[in-house]
Amino acid sequence: MFLFKTVQGLRTYLDEVRSRGETIGFVPTMGALHPGHEALIRHSIAEGHHTVVSIYVNPKQFNDPGDLEKYPRDPGRDLHILNNLGCQVVFLPGDEEVYPAGEDRSVSYLDLGKLGTTLEGAFRPGHFEGMVKVMERLLDIVEPDYLWMGQKDLQQLIIVEKLIRYLALDVKLEGRPIVREESGLALSSRNVRLTEAQKRKAAGIFQVLTEARGQYERESPENIKEKAMETLENRGLRVEYFEFVDGHTLELLTGQNGKTDSVFIVTAVWCDEVRLIDNIRVL
Ligand code: AMP
Repeated sequence: MFLFKTVQGLRTYLDEVRSRGETIGFVPTMGALHPGHEALIRHSIAEGHHTVVSIYVNPKQFNDPGDLEKYPRDPGRDLHILNNLGCQVVFLPGDEEVYPAGEDRSVSYLDLGKLGTTLEGAFRPGHFEGMVKVMERLLDIVEPDYLWMGQKDLQQLIIVEKLIRYLALDVKLEGRPIVREESGLALSSRNVRLTEAQKRKAAGIFQVLTEARGQYERESPENIKEKAMETLENRGLRVEYFEFVDGHTLELLTGQNGKTDSVFIVTAVWCDEVRLIDNIRVL
């Protein structure tokens, strides 16, 4: 496995990989790797791509400095995991490589519109603008043929699709299924901050999402949402949002919205001090 900390080193190496006719698969991460990340990386390797994993905790996408500070970091452990997976390349840049002299190297003026301000965007102002900046920069550096991301971050996935279309990049993006613990709790780097008791409580998120999905044919989104939020709150989880959305546009669905061919339920809850997001596909 090759480890690069500089843009120039990685670019020179990847030019050679491309000149051998190999395809490049890219999995961007913020580290603190878990089996959710591993599934993306395994998939890329299994498809036969020269696989690049980046580990970079992007300060620009943290609206809360406390969250940035508390974000788990364990590069030594991450490198060990990546090596065991058979990952070919790790990119571990410092801030000065991604944003030289503090400069924002992105050129896009992509207007995220409502996608940037709804759901996660409403509770984490500036988050998606920061995410777009780092993704544009990383895609420019790595120039992958394939980009693998998780459906856990559904809004992020839809926004990156939009970025790729906007920049007319020649990269195929595929969203991969959410990896969960046996309890149903979606894996997240933030889960290391949960005690076992908190994890049991947080497993309620998936149970409630599953129940809500089962009620979709019979009841209005508003009714289901009200009951689901009450159940979550009764279990000691503080709900920021719990919404039925159109899976293409993330428009909120209410009883009056009529039908679409893709429906998800998306939610963000606080389990004590830890903010967790999850979603489930309904249609
Ligand atoms: P992060 O390190 O949180 O920025 O995540 C890096 C990538 O892993 C993103 O594309 C995430 O959507 C994806 N990911 C995170 N958690 C999971 C999970 N539980 N299942 C599948 N993919 C995930």
